[in-house]
Amino acid sequence: MNECVFCKIVDGELPSRKVYEDEEILAFHDISPLAAVHVLIIPKIHITSLADCTSKHQDLLGRMLLLAPRLAKEHGLDTGFRTIINTGRGGGQTVFHLHINMFGGDRPAQA
Ligand code: AMP
Ligand code: ZN
Repeated sequence: MNECVFCKIVDGELPSRKVYEDEEILAFHDISPLAAVHVLIIPKIHITSLADCTSKHQDLLGRMLLLAPRLAKEHGLDTGFRTIINTGRGGGQTVFHLHINMFGGDRPAQA
């Protein structure tokens, strides 16, 4: 049984606030945003981390990366944004399904 949270989101077993989807890629709002806009860009196939990618993933990685500026623009991040790919436990990765964190804007006020 696949216990991967992001695979469950891809499969529709868990909800997400989708902002982009195509045959290979899904992007959705982070559940615990670090900034006003915080989107996760993931491959639909399960890849554990960037360290598990090979040359066969080159096109997929390129497409995921190019989505970042497009989604940033669509979400009004006109002055710029950050992209972070945490890789492995030592790299701060907490969900072990490859994802690009794209975020920017002011942190929302805490409730
Ligand atoms: P990291 O692996 O450090 O890049 O962090 C994983 C990110 O996934 C964190 O920012 C979490 O808030 C986010 N996250 C974890 N579970 C969910 C979920 N079910 N829906 C949306 N974002 C999530
Ligand atoms: Zn997965």
